[in-house]
Amino acid sequence: MGSLSIGGFGYRFDELIEYFSSHYGKGAYHAQVLFQQLYSEGNASVSQKKEYRLSENLARLVEQDFQVSLPRIDRFPDIEGTLKFTLLLEDSLLTESVLIPMSEWETLCLSSQVGCGRGCSFCETGAMGLRRDLKTEEIVAQWAAARFTIGRNPRNIVFMGMGEPFDNFDQVMRAVDIFSDQRGAGIPKRRISISTSGHVEGIRRLSELEGRFPERAYRTLHLAVSLNASNDRIRNELMPINRIWPMAELKSALKDSPQFGVKDALYFEYVLIPGVNDKNEHAEELVKWMDGLTAKVNLIPYHPVDAFPWSEADDSTVDRFHHILRNSGIECRTRKSRGKGIQAACGMLGKNASGVKL
Ligand code: SF4
Repeated sequence: MGSLSIGGFGYRFDELIEYFSSHYGKGAYHAQVLFQQLYSEGNASVSQKKEYRLSENLARLVEQDFQVSLPRIDRFPDIEGTLKFTLLLEDSLLTESVLIPMSEWETLCLSSQVGCGRGCSFCETGAMGLRRDLKTEEIVAQWAAARFTIGRNPRNIVFMGMGEPFDNFDQVMRAVDIFSDQRGAGIPKRRISISTSGHVEGIRRLSELEGRFPERAYRTLHLAVSLNASNDRIRNELMPINRIWPMAELKSALKDSPQFGVKDALYFEYVLIPGVNDKNEHAEELVKWMDGLTAKVNLIPYHPVDAFPWSEADDSTVDRFHHILRNSGIECRTRKSRGKGIQAACGMLGKNASGVKL
């Protein structure tokens, strides 16, 4: 494991320039070549580049300092084409990521933490507890493994794997900046979604970041809020984060952030759990709570997991709930959960493909 080397993936371009300046007395000219090499080829081989022709010593140092060796990868293909893979980190913990085929492209679902400390009662990752936050390079290495080890080039990124992304705010936002840099991976922020369990402080910090750095276009990121309830009583039971930031506070934070008031910026994820949050009155309550917000709803029928007592959501209940939202003017989609067969659907990360706890 000593050979694992992914540190180069932890730098934004401006940070790499600073590194070049403080360590080598060089600047953007040479840093840019390395940045492009890392994200186009997945390595730090700069010695053959024309910009380094007269700087052999520098090329040697850069190749030494930024040598890439990606973590060991295990893949768990699924019959639907969904591919879950894990990366073995230096401290023997595992990240989990999922490549999800869409009709014309692939979406990469990333983890931001190993485990999660938010303890949502329907979530297997939550049952693991929090092991630790991922570093920026460990987040970006998940993309690099998809791109250079597996050989796929995902078009979209969603932070919906293990962890509450806003509990690891700085590392996640640095990774977002790295992904969206046109000199590198070139995945624009409008193709990146962050999924939060309702972390009000994180929502407000994201909004402040947009105010401080408008040129970085954080306003174009998508935010998916995992809501799963229409009132505080149910949400307190399902998602303990609601006891810190109840639904009224969550709504105020979203309303106070103009970037989430535009079309397509904000989604609510609602897992329909039989007998818990799937009655007509819940749909009507949800409609009322959403008044004043510009958001779409993704309904996700619950799929049974060994550790939890609930049964599968039935189609007629899902349709009924869907219609109530639709008839009230809320744009709503029923999302089929992909990857059930490999423990890769929402709230199912935290087990390996054979169903054994990580
Ligand atoms: S649903 Fe998200 S926030 Fe909740 S425990 Fe699972 S990973 Fe954490």
